[in-house]
Amino acid sequence: MVNSQPMFPIAERFVSVNGEGLHAGRLAAFVRFAGCNLRCTYCDTEWAQSVDSATEQRSLEELVEWVAQQPVSCVTLTGGEPTLQPGLGALVAALAALDGIEVVEVETNGSVDLALLANARPEKLQFTMDYKLPSSGMEERMLPENFALFGERDVVKFVAGTPEDLEAMARIVRTYALDERCHVYISPVFGALEPAAIVDFMKDRALTRATLQLQLHKIIWPHTERGV
Ligand code: SF4
Repeated sequence: MVNSQPMFPIAERFVSVNGEGLHAGRLAAFVRFAGCNLRCTYCDTEWAQSVDSATEQRSLEELVEWVAQQPVSCVTLTGGEPTLQPGLGALVAALAALDGIEVVEVETNGSVDLALLANARPEKLQFTMDYKLPSSGMEERMLPENFALFGERDVVKFVAGTPEDLEAMARIVRTYALDERCHVYISPVFGALEPAAIVDFMKDRALTRATLQLQLHKIIWPHTERGV
């Protein structure tokens, strides 16, 4: 019999601590989907950009069963770009329905329309949008209209690599009153911008509701790319 279930291309799945965002430091089950529609200059998961990088194909049921067996209350769906998966809404709903799961986080790169996913969102779905600043080379691909879908449990994260990035970030936060709508996090491109420069910028611009964040993974596992 032919299996007609949609299959998800998976680059890796593992349990670790969340490296960033609202649940930084908490255990989470990570599912990294293969395939991305962007090519950021500083990408640290280049090996997952192509759908061909998938190490396995898994059905919705298989992924839900795996998460149910892990010692976690958070799930992070990441990539690549997870929102390129047509079955993502159904997967989010099934994960959110699991006993013991409190948060289903979808990490997105800001270039995909989130309306469908957001309009059917279960209470436990939380978006973390990684808005691409000029030094990523991908800023023109961003869809700021997604901001209107965000609320108090969502996060917009800015990864800044240059002073120009910080200026662009401040302009976007101000233009869309982002820090009144959702959480705003600022992280440096590792090794490209000193965290102290971000603190100085936050003070200078009175970014009183933004949060500086250093990626835990880069501190705990500086030389490890996968499985953490
Ligand atoms: S969106 Fe993420 S995965 Fe895609 S190229 Fe940019 S940094 Fe890499």
